[in-house]
Amino acid sequence: MDFSLTDEQNKLRQEVRDFLDQKLKSGAFQITSNGWIESFSQDFSREMSRKGWIGMTWPKEFGGQEGTYLDRAILMEEMLRYQAPIGYHFLSDRQVGPAIIHFGSKDQKETILPKIINAEVSFALGFSEPDAGSDLVSVRTSATEEGDHYIINGQKVWTTGAHRADYIWTLVRTDPNAAKKHKGLSEFIIDLKSPGVTVRPIINMAGVHSFNEVFFDNVKVPKENMVGEKNRGFYQIMAQMDYERAGLERLMQNYPLFEYLVEYVKKEKRNGEPMCKDPKVRNTLAQLEIEYQIGRLFCYQVAWTLTQGRLPNYEAALCKAYCTQFEKRLSDAATRILGLYGQLMPGSKWAPFQGDAASSYLWSVSYTLQGGTVEVLKNIIAMRGLGLPLG
Ligand SMILES: Cc1cc2nc3c(=O)[nH]c(=O)nc-3n(C[C@H](O)[C@H](O)[C@H](O)COP(=O)(O)OP(=O)(O)OC[C@H]3O[C@@H](n4cnc5c(N)ncnc54)[C@H](O)[C@@H]3O)c2cc1C
Repeated sequence: MDFSLTDEQNKLRQEVRDFLDQKLKSGAFQITSNGWIESFSQDFSREMSRKGWIGMTWPKEFGGQEGTYLDRAILMEEMLRYQAPIGYHFLSDRQVGPAIIHFGSKDQKETILPKIINAEVSFALGFSEPDAGSDLVSVRTSATEEGDHYIINGQKVWTTGAHRADYIWTLVRTDPNAAKKHKGLSEFIIDLKSPGVTVRPIINMAGVHSFNEVFFDNVKVPKENMVGEKNRGFYQIMAQMDYERAGLERLMQNYPLFEYLVEYVKKEKRNGEPMCKDPKVRNTLAQLEIEYQIGRLFCYQVAWTLTQGRLPNYEAALCKAYCTQFEKRLSDAATRILGLYGQLMPGSKWAPFQGDAASSYLWSVSYTLQGGTVEVLKNIIAMRGLGLPLG
């Protein structure tokens, strides 16, 4: 078994690092935990586009590079290690584009895919509703056919980035009388500037405006904005979720915190002794290193499975469940090692690493929920991995 990367892949990693080192020096962004999702820069995304790093795995006929998912994993690993501001394009690149390639109409492929590749358009994902999260089949937002368009009414919630995106990719009910709830759902692309759309901020417990409520009040949407087949939306989403769960960001989003922590204990003293000599501190960091390396292997296994042309359903569930729980353990360990200073939030002059430990502690909870909660992922692992019956 050979785990090593090819010369080409190592070259790609170096090229990405050189690019990011140069951007970092120019002040284009700063390395802070969660920076990759909080920072939204169309200019930065345009530069990535010019490098061919948006749509990297897409077929050439749709403007992609036909790179492998391992190439994309290398790219993402470096972007997240540097916390580069990829919020503008990253959902479109990872999920929206591949979904249009699989299920979209000829017109959607011709008009939307080039805009994603060129960083000219940004998407939010509107699946969850107040009464439909894990149980997505309970979606109630409705689309009623009227002439050459649909009328949308309802509400989405926890919609990341809807306050900055141009469009929302959403799941709505097109057949309220379907015998089975999951058979009455369809996917639509909705312009967030349409009359009748209201985006209302939700501030998360880390004090950040990252997600929103989105309300639809008689919003008129052209019929051609439906993606794929009417009433097949749920099946389409299930395939798309595997791409979402496959992302390496699950493990790497708090990596800077780990690096800061290791450097911190090398320099700082507690009770007159270097912290790095404290057996408890050493033990904790070594344990985190073991877990980090395990998580990294899971991430590469998912990328490899995708590269083989298989959907990593079980592997992605395992990877996301493990890695997001690792992030919780990492930020928990950071706040413990830093003592009371670890509780200081960004903005405090006494906070080590600009308050990243406290901020990550608060953010890490949400990672175990978004894109499928750990409990739901464990259900997938039990059924698809262990062959246990539905619980
Ligand atoms: C930071 C963040 C960003 C998000 N961004 C988006 C976004 O951009 N777009 C979007 O559509 N949604 C987004 N979400 C919503 C996310 O997808 C949902 O929070 C998630 O699917 C869980 O749904 P819920 O919150 O309704 O919780 P529920 O589904 O109500 O779950 C509540 C609890 O019950 C448990 N549970 C539920 N069902 C089962 C079961 N069958 N077996 C065992 N336990 C179960 C869950 O694990 C959880 O602990 C985001 C969430 C977060 C935290």
